Amino acid sequence: MRMTARSPRPPRIRFAARLLAGLFVGVVGLVAAAPLPLSSVDQACQQLSQRLQSVQFDDCRRLRLQAGDSATRMGRPLLYRDFLPAPPSTRPSRVLLIGGIHGDELTSVSIVFQWMRKLDREQPQPFHWRVIPNANPDGLFASPASRVNRAGVDLNRNFPSVDWQRTALAYWKTKTQSDPRRYPGKAPLSEPETRWLVEQIRQFQPDAIVSVHAPYGVLDYDGPPDPPKYFGYLRLSPLGTYPGSLGNYAGTDLGLPVITLELPHAGLMPTPVQSQQVWSDMIGWLQRNLPTRDPGAARTSR
Ligand SMILES: [Zn+2]
Repeated sequence: MRMTARSPRPPRIRFAARLLAGLFVGVVGLVAAAPLPLSSVDQACQQLSQRLQSVQFDDCRRLRLQAGDSATRMGRPLLYRDFLPAPPSTRPSRVLLIGGIHGDELTSVSIVFQWMRKLDREQPQPFHWRVIPNANPDGLFASPASRVNRAGVDLNRNFPSVDWQRTALAYWKTKTQSDPRRYPGKAPLSEPETRWLVEQIRQFQPDAIVSVHAPYGVLDYDGPPDPPKYFGYLRLSPLGTYPGSLGNYAGTDLGLPVITLELPHAGLMPTPVQSQQVWSDMIGWLQRNLPTRDPGAARTSR
């Protein structure tokens, strides 16, 4: 018998249809009830909010961090965010801001988050910023947090400075008595984090780099021009150059201004006033010292 749309369906077919409808509702219900899987950036925000008192999960998500095209040995994403100036009449200078190269310097990550919230609020900015708030996530999220990365390498001794091959391991053995906290790795750029950071420098071509550390409570500087005397309560006090450090590689070898901010405590944040003074002195110095380029002008290669 040919069935039409209006024909009453036989009981067996009605039962099967109800069963299918029930299954469908059940599956939809299950899907709706199951929490959506967190993205890798959200997972990173969750871990950051658990480790750092001053970073809240929702604030971190609102910052719209992006995962770079590389990951740590533990598979954690390396996050960054660009803050762009308004459409400029001249080409804005570029500043690369890095926190947490040493994973146990918690304030160096927290203050970069504080400054990212500020950059997010106060747009447009005079510079094009690329911010990498947490350059050593495996170190930060280790228990306890560690200066070195997962492979036990001090990332700030693993940059490919000209003197690395000749001096890095010898310096580590003789000057630090093979301090495991300062191991430069078996070769420059042996670590995914430093390879990615160097790639960021190559791609982004910053006009200055700011790297935040703790706990020496000073300002350090590598590269041209003359160093700033102070930013807020941080006074200039050169800490020396080390084979494979970012200051040595980007400041001395590439000739970029590299500002190292050493906060006075690794676990205790500066007051809002101290943080603001460091920030505003730094912005003033960058505005006075970085070149403003014509939009059409070709960038000089470094
Ligand atoms: Zn450090």
